[in-house]
Amino acid sequence: MPRQLFVTTALPYANAPFHIGHMMEYIQADIWVRFQRMHGSNVHFVCADDAHGAPIMIAAEKAGKTPQQFVADIAAGRKEYLDGFHISFDNWHSTDGPENHLLAQNIYRDLKKNGLIDTRTIEQFFDPDKSMFLPDRFIKGECPKCHAKDQYGDNCEVCGAVYSPTELINPYSALSGATPVLRTSEHFFFKLSDPRCLAFLDQWTQSGAVQPEVLNKIAEWIEPGEDGKPKMGDWDISRDAPYFGIEIPDCPGKYFYVWLDAPIGYLASLQNRFAKLEGDAAKGAAAYESFMADPATEQYHFIGKDIITFHTLFWPAMLHFSGRKTPNAVFVHGFLTINSGEKMSKSRGTGLNPLKYLSLGMNPEWLRYYLATKLTPRNEDIEFSPDDFMARVNSDLIGKYINIASRAAGFISKRFGGKLGAVSPDGAGLLDTLREGQDVIAALYESREYAKALREVMLLADKVNAYVDANKPWELAKKDGMEARLHDVCTVCIEAFRMLTIYLKPVLPALAANVEIFLNSGPLSFGTANGGLPVGHTIGEYQHLMQRVDIKQLDALFEAPAPSAATQSATEIVAPGGEALAPTISIDDFAKVDLRIAAILNCEAVEGSTKLLRLTLDAGEKDEAGQPRMRNVFSGIASAYKPEDLVGKLTVLVANLAPRKMKFGVSEGMVLAASHGDEKSNPGIYILNPWAGAQPGMRIH
Ligand SMILES: [Zn+2]
Repeated sequence: MPRQLFVTTALPYANAPFHIGHMMEYIQADIWVRFQRMHGSNVHFVCADDAHGAPIMIAAEKAGKTPQQFVADIAAGRKEYLDGFHISFDNWHSTDGPENHLLAQNIYRDLKKNGLIDTRTIEQFFDPDKSMFLPDRFIKGECPKCHAKDQYGDNCEVCGAVYSPTELINPYSALSGATPVLRTSEHFFFKLSDPRCLAFLDQWTQSGAVQPEVLNKIAEWIEPGEDGKPKMGDWDISRDAPYFGIEIPDCPGKYFYVWLDAPIGYLASLQNRFAKLEGDAAKGAAAYESFMADPATEQYHFIGKDIITFHTLFWPAMLHFSGRKTPNAVFVHGFLTINSGEKMSKSRGTGLNPLKYLSLGMNPEWLRYYLATKLTPRNEDIEFSPDDFMARVNSDLIGKYINIASRAAGFISKRFGGKLGAVSPDGAGLLDTLREGQDVIAALYESREYAKALREVMLLADKVNAYVDANKPWELAKKDGMEARLHDVCTVCIEAFRMLTIYLKPVLPALAANVEIFLNSGPLSFGTANGGLPVGHTIGEYQHLMQRVDIKQLDALFEAPAPSAATQSATEIVAPGGEALAPTISIDDFAKVDLRIAAILNCEAVEGSTKLLRLTLDAGEKDEAGQPRMRNVFSGIASAYKPEDLVGKLTVLVANLAPRKMKFGVSEGMVLAASHGDEKSNPGIYILNPWAGAQPGMRIH
């Protein structure tokens, strides 16, 4: 019976595009899933946008969109990344989908029936400036456990502690900076400290469902501390309106906390997949129910180390006590660090933008291969180093693997009409060695030991290359009477290349697809390593399968734009409008600039200048005699405006700029206009013009 697998990655929060950390997790999971599919397993690999919660509600409001539209716009950008890096999800959904609303409410009802939901009136932080209860992520302060500064209200990113925002030391509102005040509200709690939950979690976490190093972290939470109580308390699962989320049944104005419904989104996305497969929502729901009820179904989640508590405590407990299947395992990975060993190198930044990578024409499978050479089943950080990246791809992947095909295929095509020959005992011995590697490599993929699996593959490739060097087909081709030996040696190389491709296919799916066409072999999978292509099999013309990494691409990928103090720390350093942002100033600095509405009473060309226009401005000022005082201002806008365009219009004047003596007279101020930083490639000057109703003399604050 083929295995029946339900596999997910963590749901990305739908407030931003993917970053390289997402792509690493997806690549790790995708390699595993592709390996399972190659073994004939029946896999459902799903994910979804994590759509709910206050941060998205607030971001949508700022963007002038509904939360639904905001999330849909983010979701629309996902495909470019997923297709670009060959991530083979079977379904992508949203936690705001109807399946998730229903599933979350049903799970809640089941937990309630089981006596594990409590209501309590709690004191909660309220932002007096914004008139709303503050979401955890918008309260910051000092961690009550390890005293790290500037930690979020729900958990500490330094020590991993999970706590209630009211436990923070010196809290402040990240929305307004105000000191929040406490107000009371009725909240719903999942009783994780119930002895039944603790007993279950103790059993589940010891069942092999988590890695040993993760188990140590979890033990800190569920085992009794010095006071005889576990560190883990009950879990506050409700939030007050206004909130973008799923309403709690029979409790208007109360919503599930986003972390309650987010993991349920795994189930919702799976159910949505079944609905698509069945072509009908009701049939899909039934198929989903029977799939999840089947004891043969295995459930796995790939996640990052920052969300361990949610996935190894809350999530299995919610599932178990609502009468549902619990995950067979949660696979935790570390973070990806970029160039951290190259702090001395000023030319390379520490960000790796996945779309920039693709736009530079860099092969997505280079990254898949490189990350795979680093990935282990342990919860540990891995490092991206550009020099190492280039060495692994160029020396190993191209130098050891691709070259085997390129050295042999030409002879097969030109000398033997594309037909493979017979293999003599020495070659057969080599191929047996390669075949024997199959079980070891498969076991390494299964246990997510990708780094070790690829080391095994490269050791086999070394053996093939030693065989090539010993037999020198390029010399055999020049000698008389060596036709049969040349055919034999090249056939061994092609068959060896086919087997190595099988072993690399989970990592390099697009390349493997091209090899399948080149070898005319049909789909390669782990079982097919045993067979081998028959004598007389015709292969195709060898086409170049993969380029080498060019150092220029890596330089461009990590090229840091002109740094400025204000933007250097931002992950995405950009130069909007062609100019980096100026250094940060205080509100007091800004107040020194006196901006006033001014009416353009007259405008004329300046004789002897093609750039300047002379403006006569009324900024509402009067002289000592009470007569209107006009300003004479020269402005370099003649390329964009004719004098008659401007007469009678209002604009903005820098009113306290020191007068400046110019060739054509004294300029008493400056009018404001917008232009691109690179005027040559982006010409155009746009003078500022206030909305109707502004009067000359009004100050701009
Ligand atoms: Zn802490």
